Amino acid sequence: MTTAADPQASPIRTDVLIVGAGPVGLFAAFEAAVIGLSCQIVDALGRIGGQCIELYPDKPIYDIPAIASCTARELVERLLAQCKPFDVPIHLEQRVATVEQRDDGRWTVRTGQGLVFDVAAILLAAGNGAFMPQKLALPEAVPLEGRHVHYSVPRLAAFADKVVVVAGGGDSALDWALALREVARRVTLVHRRPGFSAADSSVELMRRAVDAGEMDFVVGAISGLNLADGALRSLTLRTLDGETELEAEHLIALYGLVADLGPIAQWGLTSHGGRIDVDTSNYESSRPGIFAVGDLANYPNKQKLILSGFHEASLALRKAYTYAFPEKKRVHVHSSYDAKLAQKIAATG
Ligand SMILES: Cc1cc2nc3c(=O)[nH]c(=O)nc-3n(C[C@H](O)[C@H](O)[C@H](O)COP(=O)(O)OP(=O)(O)OC[C@H]3O[C@@H](n4cnc5c(N)ncnc54)[C@H](O)[C@@H]3O)c2cc1C
Repeated sequence: MTTAADPQASPIRTDVLIVGAGPVGLFAAFEAAVIGLSCQIVDALGRIGGQCIELYPDKPIYDIPAIASCTARELVERLLAQCKPFDVPIHLEQRVATVEQRDDGRWTVRTGQGLVFDVAAILLAAGNGAFMPQKLALPEAVPLEGRHVHYSVPRLAAFADKVVVVAGGGDSALDWALALREVARRVTLVHRRPGFSAADSSVELMRRAVDAGEMDFVVGAISGLNLADGALRSLTLRTLDGETELEAEHLIALYGLVADLGPIAQWGLTSHGGRIDVDTSNYESSRPGIFAVGDLANYPNKQKLILSGFHEASLALRKAYTYAFPEKKRVHVHSSYDAKLAQKIAATG
């Protein structure tokens, strides 16, 4: 699978564009290949797996048919292994932005990062929308973004010998605070309460690092950013004892992710409560050729379960097939297919 994107390249032509590399998008890629559709996947995030990886990688899942129990991470690994024989390209950090239907009935889909797709059908498996970092509610943080205020840590080395504050109480905040103490001049973890949602083992490591004087931990809420010559110098913290100032050259706020349907909400698809209305005979939206499956689909008695998304994707792709191959009218999988699939799987191990 490829993950690189070349924004200068000409439009990528494929039968189906799958938006979302969560569990449903990954299974859809397999199903598409099984019925003879080419497809490519895009995801706004930098890694594959949707909610399974972002929200609960180590939680066991018990309701996937024929798998008594596996963690969410293992499920994503298994889904990737299942579509590996078909070498489906996956373009990460590509947020789908606009869609246009051409005179020939095909669609042009553009991502905000410059990729352009020319497709017969679009399968939206976009969950609750693209995950975006929960940002600081401080207007002065906006112009500092990327320079002194950060919502991720792309390169640890960028913080070498700096005074860094990491804000948050989840796994990311604790893991990065612990990692940064190796390179930064000083690291302070700031969290609004003494309890954490991070793994107990990370909390224990953090407390030991604080006891050893390798980093600091402060309970408080960030209420202001103080600048000198356009650069961050300190934070104002509201603590139980009142307001205090904390030196900081860089603030890394890791408050978790929020889902945002974003530009897809402007595509003119009928929706309710941020989810796209579909016809349950084929999971097609109000715009023929655009399908919604998984958590994004809205219909009576919809269950937000991975299992339901798998079923929806399977039916949606059968209708998508009729747009890719209008002359064939319906999917016709030859009896020789199983043998071909077995060969492909054997070839990729
Ligand atoms: C804590 C928790 C536990 C759960 N446990 C279970 C369980 O045990 N069993 C079960 O069946 N279900 C469980 N679920 C529900 C299950 O995770 C969801 O039903 C499932 O993840 C839906 O899959 P999806 O592929 O539709 O969407 P998601 O997993 O949400 O993936 C959608 C992907 O689309 C991407 N995306 C969105 N918008 C765009 C865009 N514009 N451009 C590009 N990419 C975009 C997102 O970045 C994301 O990666 C649980 C959910 C939670 C929160």
